[in-house]
Amino acid sequence: MAYYAEPLDRLIGELSRLPGIGPKTAQRLAFYILKMSKDRVESLADAILQAKELITYCSICGNFTDVDPCSICQTPYRDKNTIMVVEDPKDIVAMEKTRDYKGLYHVLHGAISPLEGIGPDDIKIKELLARITPEIKEIILATNPNVEGEATAMYLAKLLKPLDVKVTRIAYGIPMGGDLEYADEVTLTKALEGRQKI
Ligand SMILES: [Zn+2]
Repeated sequence: MAYYAEPLDRLIGELSRLPGIGPKTAQRLAFYILKMSKDRVESLADAILQAKELITYCSICGNFTDVDPCSICQTPYRDKNTIMVVEDPKDIVAMEKTRDYKGLYHVLHGAISPLEGIGPDDIKIKELLARITPEIKEIILATNPNVEGEATAMYLAKLLKPLDVKVTRIAYGIPMGGDLEYADEVTLTKALEGRQKI
């Protein structure tokens, strides 16, 4: 016996396929949507469709954008000599929120992961190499500090070594507001390695 009427069952099913949404949350959201006015539901459905139709990848950096090149690549006052390499467009958002970085980006759209069968050709490494002109003075490797992100950074560092460009890796360490006693050993080791003179 089905617990829900078929259209409701379908809505819960679709919602529960989204990341981070378990069956209970999917049910809660579906019930909430049913209580919304028809206008708001239409506006929600339209926002999803419009985003899907209008957002594409920047042909230069791979960021999500509705204009090509994206606003970051187009902005005249950004430092065109520095490229920060990240795994995902979400990482650009995080970095932009700091307002401290003024260079350009390159999105790899993933990281090297032999376990998942993702090799160097499966992410946007060729596209990164194509962007390295004499104008580029520094490449900042800002892949995630996990096994895949590290492997990717190491691979890129080796690949970029023969080129006349400075390659740096973002520092690791103890999160602000964190406690040394709760940090894992790898984080502590990396924090010690990356210590700086004050
Ligand atoms: Zn761009």
